[in-house]
Amino acid sequence: MNIVIFGPPGAGKGTQSKFIVEKYKLHQLSTGDLLRNEIKNKTALGSKISTIMSSGELVSDDIVGNLIEKFVSNNTFKNKIIFDGYPRTIIQAKNLDNLLFKYDQKIDIVLKLSVSLETVKQRILERQSQEKRADDNEEIAIKRYKTYESSSKSVISYYKQRKLLKVINGEAPIEEINIEISGLIEAIKG
Ligand code: AMP
Repeated sequence: MNIVIFGPPGAGKGTQSKFIVEKYKLHQLSTGDLLRNEIKNKTALGSKISTIMSSGELVSDDIVGNLIEKFVSNNTFKNKIIFDGYPRTIIQAKNLDNLLFKYDQKIDIVLKLSVSLETVKQRILERQSQEKRADDNEEIAIKRYKTYESSSKSVISYYKQRKLLKVINGEAPIEEINIEISGLIEAIKG
């Protein structure tokens, strides 16, 4: 089973992905983490993307597409991936379908975590004190939320049309969301 977890920054995608990974023995593919690693390891790609990332803009579809192909093409992860933070644009959504098709896979469910801008600001400020991410401050959080709002609509309707979209209240307590997600996954596992 391949899952897409979708939502604005601070929606709880990472937290819920970790829960799903443990419970259903999947592998988390966080494009944000992969990109931050490039910056941390001072690679050529890292230096190219650091300004874009710290400004709250999206990295190009080509760059993230190449990163995820390495993962999708690896047999170890076949049909065991949770995509966290990918796709973020309609081009990425279509690229992902093509890529999965190429490797004889598909998306089984898209979990969308909905949260308000106020919650996003609050959570990002909390995370800032723990993780010290360059893009976790109020101004950039607002920018990232706006970026999400403008690019997410077409992705959401794309998955809605395919009847893959499940909307979850991301403001609920973590354990409640865990239970809701488990129910949705169990239902498609049959
Ligand atoms: P995240 O950790 O998912 O909040 O992502 C942090 C930042 O990484 C985003 O604000 C973007 O700059 C970049 N990023 C992560 N995933 C993508 C993606 N799928 N497409 C473009 N940029 C991305």
